[in-house]
Amino acid sequence: MPQLASRIGRAKPSAIMQIAEKAKRLKAEGRDIISFSIGVPNFLPGEHVYEAARNALAHDSGQYGSNRGADAMIDAFLEHIGKLGLTGYGRVNCASGVGAKHILYNLGEALLDEGDTIAFPTPYWTSYLDIAEIVNAKVELLPCPPEQDYKLTPAQLDAALAKKPRVFLFNNPSNPTGMVYSREEIDALAEVIARYPDTWIITDDIYNKMVFDGVGYHNFVHSRPELKDRVIFVDSLSKTYGMPGWRVGFMAGPESVAQAVVTLNSNHITNIPEIATAAAVAALTGPQDVPEGKCAEFQAKRDQVMDVMNAIPGVVCPRPQGAFYVFPDISCTFGKTHGPTGKAIANDVDFCSVLLEAKGVACVPGSAFGEPRAMRISYTCPTPQLAPGIERIREFFAELQ
Ligand code: PLP
Repeated sequence: MPQLASRIGRAKPSAIMQIAEKAKRLKAEGRDIISFSIGVPNFLPGEHVYEAARNALAHDSGQYGSNRGADAMIDAFLEHIGKLGLTGYGRVNCASGVGAKHILYNLGEALLDEGDTIAFPTPYWTSYLDIAEIVNAKVELLPCPPEQDYKLTPAQLDAALAKKPRVFLFNNPSNPTGMVYSREEIDALAEVIARYPDTWIITDDIYNKMVFDGVGYHNFVHSRPELKDRVIFVDSLSKTYGMPGWRVGFMAGPESVAQAVVTLNSNHITNIPEIATAAAVAALTGPQDVPEGKCAEFQAKRDQVMDVMNAIPGVVCPRPQGAFYVFPDISCTFGKTHGPTGKAIANDVDFCSVLLEAKGVACVPGSAFGEPRAMRISYTCPTPQLAPGIERIREFFAELQ
């Protein structure tokens, strides 16, 4: 029998999906399960988005669309990033894709030759490793433990960029930690970046509208506009507009990079579907009350989760200021046993597995994100489930001996 390509052998099954599948199975068996596992926003976009989609359906052109993305959608994206303070970009600097994940794969293909290095902070979003595997790049992980609030320091970045990686990939606000870099922190990192002109910088900032406590969203080009010639900003409608299934993502950056993504699109997908395009224009240009309302709701939910995490002895939990994740360090439980079930907890995977079996709460082991001391709580569940879910986690900790 012929063999599959070697890159497929390197791809690993997603730990997030494994825990989500187990939770689903237990639910089907009649167990009362509360899921804090998958990073889905759990809300729907405003009615104006559906209205635009219905209109597009009624006026189907029957044609292929633009490889870059329809002019109206790119213009809407330009207007949107202008409000984020990312100005001076034109259509030629932008491209769309089937979600930010697809944009990131395109960037991997466009920027990395086989054997080139891509550096990124740990904890990281899981697909970064897969993208590197698929394009056969080398990965340099930059460890950002809870002791440094899961944030990269200028000294670490300096040491990493001195090795001249082809790409530095940065994620702010972060999945899985929810950490957000302040303007001062971004300024300090941008100052380092400015000294290393041979590295492309990708900023995966898809949670840019989900920022709490008034800290604001900041990008390296805010600090140093001249970095626009090698910073590539990645955005998506999935999380902030409640539209993960519509599959719309964007990039803005140097013209040559946008053109490379357009060329890859022309060979991979041709275009974003027309109906999703119309919905994207409506989401970006229409009323912003849904994302704004959700941001306020998530901030309140963050507080609820943090109140419990902070009260558990031994747990270290840096306070997130964005996205919808909390990432406590649970390593104080390793080596303990869960009293009622007698199950031993040796690591994060055991912790999440016994928590799910014993308490019916699904969280994702931190090792899925390169930090095996932690677990990820995604708190977008319906509001009535949040308090009982975190109470069960608190009880679980109390039952460990
Ligand atoms: N980047 C980060 C940090 C994410 O958390 C996700 C989704 O979980 C993505 C990119 C992919 O988003 P999209 O749904 O636009 O493909």
